[in-house]
Order: sequence, then structure tokens, then C-alpha cells
Amino acid sequence: MQSEPRHPMFLSRARIAYFSMEFALEDGIPTYSGGLGVLAGDMMRSAADLGVPLVGVTLASRAGYFRQEIAGDAQVERAEPWDPSAHAQRLACKVMVAMGGREVWIGAWRYDVEGHPRRGGAAPVILLDTDLPENHPDDRTLTHWLYGGDAAYRLRQEIVLGVGGVRMLRALGLRVYRYHLNEGHSALLTLELLREEGGAAPAGELLRDAIEAVRASCVFTTHTPVEAGHDQYPAAMALQWLAGVVDPQVLQALEGTEALNLTRLALRLCGWVNGVADSHARTSRALFPGYDVHAVTNGVHALTWAGPAMRALFDRRIPQWCHEPELLVRALRIPDAEIVAAHAVAKQELLRSIAGVPGAQALDPQRFTVGFARRMTDYKRPGLLFTDLARLRAIARDQPFQVIVSGKAHPRDDTGKRHIESLHAWARELEGTVPVVFVPDYRLEVARRLVAGVDLWLNTPLPPLEASGTSGMKAALNGVPSLSVLDGWWVEGWEEGVTGWAIGADGDRDAGRHAASLYQKLEQLVLPAFRDTAAWAAIMKSAIARNGSYFNSHRMIRRYATEAYFS
Ligand SMILES: *Cc1c(COP(=O)(O)O)cnc(C)c1O
Repeated sequence: MQSEPRHPMFLSRARIAYFSMEFALEDGIPTYSGGLGVLAGDMMRSAADLGVPLVGVTLASRAGYFRQEIAGDAQVERAEPWDPSAHAQRLACKVMVAMGGREVWIGAWRYDVEGHPRRGGAAPVILLDTDLPENHPDDRTLTHWLYGGDAAYRLRQEIVLGVGGVRMLRALGLRVYRYHLNEGHSALLTLELLREEGGAAPAGELLRDAIEAVRASCVFTTHTPVEAGHDQYPAAMALQWLAGVVDPQVLQALEGTEALNLTRLALRLCGWVNGVADSHARTSRALFPGYDVHAVTNGVHALTWAGPAMRALFDRRIPQWCHEPELLVRALRIPDAEIVAAHAVAKQELLRSIAGVPGAQALDPQRFTVGFARRMTDYKRPGLLFTDLARLRAIARDQPFQVIVSGKAHPRDDTGKRHIESLHAWARELEGTVPVVFVPDYRLEVARRLVAGVDLWLNTPLPPLEASGTSGMKAALNGVPSLSVLDGWWVEGWEEGVTGWAIGADGDRDAGRHAASLYQKLEQLVLPAFRDTAAWAAIMKSAIARNGSYFNSHRMIRRYATEAYFS
């Protein structure tokens, strides 16, 4: 391991090392695919604002995720490379991990997430990069594609992230107080900590003590409520790539001979585990019996996700709101006309920004606008709204509305891609009665405009598969209520007719009943409320006061700090 000059800024205090495969840092840095990365980015933004000493660790993902275009009705994936040297500072440190009989050298970049301008804080993120001339060509591309490649590529990426990440923290001279695993991708860091603790010997006292020491310093946040969503590798593959990192007997003692499951490893070696909403923690306890799973409901970074017009209004009426988002409870005092005006600006800005998208000419700023944007995958059920087109037409005859949708499907998710094609087909069928526009390339910038500019945020996952969901929280901050299945955060945020509306009954998984409920609420409750300006302003203010004040990342990081990091 090559240790070079230490970096004084890092040295000042012990930090929480926050490991995540993806981080949504800013527009133009495509090192994220969706909600997990946005959450990690918001976590760092709150850390920077509040002075919580985090250091993020991730891969440079130089080739990005992908940029989505639509050709015909189908998703086309374009490369989205980025240049770390244009956004981040190269660190003069390299570490080595032996993998599959080769030395893989890992360099690093440092990106500082800037906090609120008046407070001057910053939180560093370290981006690991194997694209170094001394590496074998196959290893140079290990940190290129986010969620790309086959299982072996993914495993090797996870070795770089977990094992390489810990070695990099050491080489930089950082003192680390806790390791926080944002999802199981970084679970292999526990093996490196185990090695450091002297746990390399086969099972016995030493291993048990080492495990206890590792458990005391690791926090694990699980995000996936389905067993199949967890990374798992055949034992032979794990041994092939991990032999240089961990004694095979230790791995066997930990994981058995069947397979390496990163979630199980994280559960075993992290002393504090949580799910990302109350309902998700309950699901996880059932999925992983014997583990004490806490609940820390996700949140979003208020300053990032409130649109410019709403932000200006909050600045005027609720000073300090972005440092203490709890103050948004006072949104109820804001005069109706000011909320309505701020939202109208956001809606116009949204329509202006998507004016070039096919079909957008049919959108009308006066018309009620439903927004639906998320990863296009089966469990999110993007087709639920379109279950009965005749019914939609009938509703729109008396109470016109329009729909804006957006979302990427993972390149290997064929079902997700078919959903995108179906959405385009339905849009054509509804032409002239219900305008439906698909905005390509869902990303931070698109999300910011959508959550601020639509009138209603629609959310239709199949329970209990939505661990939390965060886009509805972003909408609420902007006074946009949700119409949502009772899953994830909405179980906690939902107050019928006050912060939005529920689709279906709690615990019901029947798609037919969900669609019927969606149509009934839209026709009989949501659209009539929208026509009553005072009633709608009250709903907008309640969404901000009751949901925006709570489902923010300042509250989230304070809970991690008091319950997981410093307790
Ligand atoms: C917030 C966000 C997500 C996550 O939204 P969910 O409600 O959790 O599906 C995904 N992608 C982008 C670009 C986002 O901003």
C-alpha cells in the first residue's frame, strides 16, 4: 500500500465513512441511477449544512449510468461519460487490492459537497478510480460503468468499493469513527475491517472478538424488501476474486459454502441495522428473522428540492426554514394567494422546460396535471393509471386533466422497457382527450422541475415493495399532494384529504381494486378539490406543513447521528 502526503482537512476530526455505490452529487455527474443515489447525495448535503462529519466513499463511475433517448416508442441507451478532472480534485494516493491473482491499483478523486452558502460547510466524497496506466486493461474499466457488466464485474466493483475504500481511507490518514453501508453493495468493507482486527485466522475466539469489534463500528441501511434484490454470488466466484482479501476459511465460517450474500454479510457484521421507513423495517424484520432492524424513514434535502419560486416564498415567510425544515409547519400561515402564485410559476417553468418534447404542445398550464416519474420497472406499476382508458376518457370529459411521465428502465430490465413502450402507445390512444407526455432521461434536473410543477404526484407500487420512495416527499415540499398506494413513506405521511389521498386499503395488493380506487379518488375527490381554489390551497399548505417539515434529510441525518453514530 502506497501512502502519500496526508490531507490536512481530513485529519481534523474523526468521520463517519458513508459508503454508497451511487451518489447524485450534481447535474453533469452521472454517478447515480435513481433513488439510492439521490438519497446519498441528500445525506451529504445535509451533512455539509449541519456540520455532521461525514466522508462519502463511492466509485468514480467514469462511464456513468446511461442517457435515455426515445426512438419510436422505445428506450435507447446512450453512453454518458464524465470527466472527474473537470469536477473533482485528484488525490495523491493509491492503494492496491489483489484480485484474481492480479494487483489492482486504485486512485481517488475528491469532490466537496458544499453546504448552505451562509454557513460555509462542506462534506467530501471520495471517488475511487482504477483507470490507471499501471493496471491491466480489464481492471482499468472496473470503475467505469455504474451497475454495468456481468456478475464477476459487479463483484469486483464491490471489492474495489468495500475493500479498496477502507484502504483508501487509511492511506488518506482519515480517522473513521463509524462505517455506514448505504445498501449491501459495500458490505465487503466488513471483511477488510475483520482482517485489520486480526480476524483472518479460521473460526475461533479471535474471529469472534474481531466480529464484535467490526459490529461495533458498522451501521447498515437496507433498502430492498425482496430477497431477490440482494447481491449474491456463487461461492466459487467469491473465492476466486476474494482469495487475496480474506482467508477462504473465514469466508466459509461467515457465509457457509453455498453463496456469498452481501445483505446477510452486512446483517451479520453491522451492529446497527435499519430499514428506510416504518413499514419497510417491519418487512425487513420478517425477511431477516433474528435481527434487530430499526426504522429511520428517509428524507430529502429541502433546499435542493424546493423549486426556486417556493424557495423564495419560504425565505420571505419562514426564515431559517432550510436550516431547520421543521419550521415548515408554519406554512399554514402563508396566504393562499402566495402559495398558489409560487406553484403557478413552477408549473410554467416545467412546461417551458419540456416544450420540445413530442406531445408537449397539447399541455395547458391551466389544466390539472398528474405527475408520475420513477424507475420504469414492474413493481412500480407505471401502467396502473392506464388500466381502463375508457374510464380515463370519461373522467376527463367533465374534469380535464393531463399527465406527465418520466423514467428510465435498467438496460437489462426488459419488462421495464416494455412499460415505456406501453406508455407511449397509451399516450397515442388518449390523444385529444387526455394529453400524456413522456419526458425522456429522468435525472436530477428533470426531477426538480417535475416535483415542483405538477399538481398531483401519483405513486402506484405493489406493496410492500416500495421500501420508502422519496419523490413524493420532494413533491410535498413544493405543495404537491400525493395520490399513492399505502406503501413506504406514504404510510406515515398520508392524511386522507389533508396531505393527499390513499389508493386502496392498507395491506391490499389487488391491482384491480387499486385501479378502481385510483379512478374513484381522482374523479370524486381530487379533481373536485382542485376546482375549489381555497380547498386546494389548504391541501398544498398541509402537504408542506405536515410532510415537508418532517420528511427531510436534516431530520434523517440527525436521527442517524443520535441513534446510530454517536450512541
Ligand atoms: C427522487 C428521485 C428518484 C427516487 O424516487 P422514488 O420516489 O424513490 O422512486 C429517482 N430518480 C431521480 C432522478 C430522483 O430525483
